Amino acid sequence: MYDVLVVGSANADLTVRVERRPGAGETVLGTDLVETAGGKGANQAAAAARLGGRTALLARVGGDAFGELLLAAQREAGTDVAPVIVDAAARTGTAMIIVSPDGDNSIVVSPGANAALSPRDVAAAKDIIAASSVVSLQLEIPMESVRAAAATAEDACTRVVLNPSPAPEALAPELLASADPLVVNEHEARQLSGLTDGKPAEWAYALREKGARSVVVTLGGDGALVLDASGAQDVPGVRVKAVDTTGAGDAFTGALVTRLARGDALPDAARFAVRVGAAAVTRPGAQPSYPSLAELDELPE
Ligand code: ADP
Repeated sequence: MYDVLVVGSANADLTVRVERRPGAGETVLGTDLVETAGGKGANQAAAAARLGGRTALLARVGGDAFGELLLAAQREAGTDVAPVIVDAAARTGTAMIIVSPDGDNSIVVSPGANAALSPRDVAAAKDIIAASSVVSLQLEIPMESVRAAAATAEDACTRVVLNPSPAPEALAPELLASADPLVVNEHEARQLSGLTDGKPAEWAYALREKGARSVVVTLGGDGALVLDASGAQDVPGVRVKAVDTTGAGDAFTGALVTRLARGDALPDAARFAVRVGAAAVTRPGAQPSYPSLAELDELPE
């Protein structure tokens, strides 16, 4: 029924640019507020759907204007939002983002409705999980719900892709063992492998040693490193003028899962995902920056 079911968070990103970050007790003036659709789960779903993957999202939003904004963005991307639960009594998750002139972000996340996405919600979506080729998971919803989604997918022989972000101290062994692949950026790779230095291939082998079935380490402008049964492979980056890297990792994962669902080998799916991540950094915002297949063709080789 679906190539990809994303189980995860949906946040409204509320962004203001400032000349300088305020200190404690201080007030500074910023630009007009910009509201865009974000949250790691919703981002991955939007990226996958825009690339033509048959995509559904299991998430929770509140009965407020931000929830409507997020649902509209998903519909526009082509995601099936039937599994999204609109909780009239809750506030939609928000990320309040302050951007300083050097491009650095300070972010406060209010999880809102995301915190209520429960193992019961996951159990109610059992048939959708079984009818999807890939379930894509991140960690902006309660951990017990992520674990329930991974376990349900495993029972149904649905492939699990896990992006352990925000980076936890450690992952439950059975959750790590379900990841095929585990998709980590450099920071997450170091944190979860326990290796503070070393090279991406060493982090990847260490993560596989800890139980992940396969591993992808994303390396910003340098592309990615893939480790699967055929060994470790570098996937070179695509040289672009980076304008805003917000949500680049989610664009990468959304692209990766659409290709895995269609039967690509992991290195081929990662090559495609590196191009999608590169396209996403050439435009501002998370979801508004995600390319369609036609836009991807315009990117240099
Ligand atoms: P995260 O956003 O999770 O920190 P990365 O920074 O590794 O993850 O970026 C994810 C992907 O986005 C990369 O693998 C690459 O495809 C793309 N990307 C990120 N930054 C750049 C950049 N400066 N130039 C080209 N591609 C980039």
